[in-house]
Amino acid sequence: MFKISQISKFGELLDKLSVAKHAIILHSQDKILLEAIAKLYVMKQECVDQNSPCFCCNNCKKILDENAIDVEVYGKEKGIVVDDSKAIIESSYVLPIDFKNKYFILCGFENATVQAQNKLLKMIEEPQTFDKYIILVQNLDAVLSTIKSRCQIFSLPRFNDEELKSVFNFKIGEAKKINNAVQFASGNLSKLNDILNDEKFDEIYSLCLSIILNMQNSSSILEYSSKIAKYKDKIDMILETLSSFYRDMLAIKCGEEYLVQNKEILNQLKVLSNMTNQTALSAILKEIGGVKQKLKFNSNFNGVIDNLLLKILEVKYLCK
Ligand SMILES: [Zn+2]
Repeated sequence: MFKISQISKFGELLDKLSVAKHAIILHSQDKILLEAIAKLYVMKQECVDQNSPCFCCNNCKKILDENAIDVEVYGKEKGIVVDDSKAIIESSYVLPIDFKNKYFILCGFENATVQAQNKLLKMIEEPQTFDKYIILVQNLDAVLSTIKSRCQIFSLPRFNDEELKSVFNFKIGEAKKINNAVQFASGNLSKLNDILNDEKFDEIYSLCLSIILNMQNSSSILEYSSKIAKYKDKIDMILETLSSFYRDMLAIKCGEEYLVQNKEILNQLKVLSNMTNQTALSAILKEIGGVKQKLKFNSNFNGVIDNLLLKILEVKYLCK
């Protein structure tokens, strides 16, 4: 979380939030980021250090450890219902004990019922001077317009790939798949977390690597095709992984090694890149890009995949 606050665009956002209205809506597809920004916002308000948030004063620590008495979190386990709204209203009149303000963090607001939202309306409209409402939502359309009009809305920026890598706490041994995972996560910390916790991601990475390294003849096409079919629901991940390998080979070919994403297999990619010409690499990338489209209109999954593998093999032969 410290690292997120160090990224300038999020630092600027926190500055804006600290002078925002008593009720704010934070909007992003990234659930982890939403919750992190909500915490950082509260820390920035309540930190006792000059460099707020300092992450080490008592207030910051309580907020980080989620045991601050004046921070109430709702909707984390399941969508907010009328009973939650009632509890919020009741508590909203009670003065803060520890902090200057009292904070109500309303998570997953896209799952809040209409009745629950309606019930909160009056309180958001006529708040106590010490109350702050932080609504976290992945889909703005799910928020009643009457609530939206009473709040200040902030759409959170996305991470770029480098930022995403810098904030994620990778485990040892994950290095190999990080770059592809980051690419696949497209700036979303929650998505990155899901991918790296998905045990299939490892298997898919190895399968794709094996396709580009070991697939030698048409008889092996069948073998790989049936392996891919097992991950039918993860086909996007397979295509993105394959693309990343070929993009890397193309980068090597163009003398732009610094662009290589899968640095851990750089030497293998170099060998492959040497064996292939630039036109063929571009053609394969185009082919992979087209597969998604084809699968949308063509129900013959195996046929489309066989065709792709055949093209990959053709390129290998043409260039030999
Ligand atoms: Zn602090």
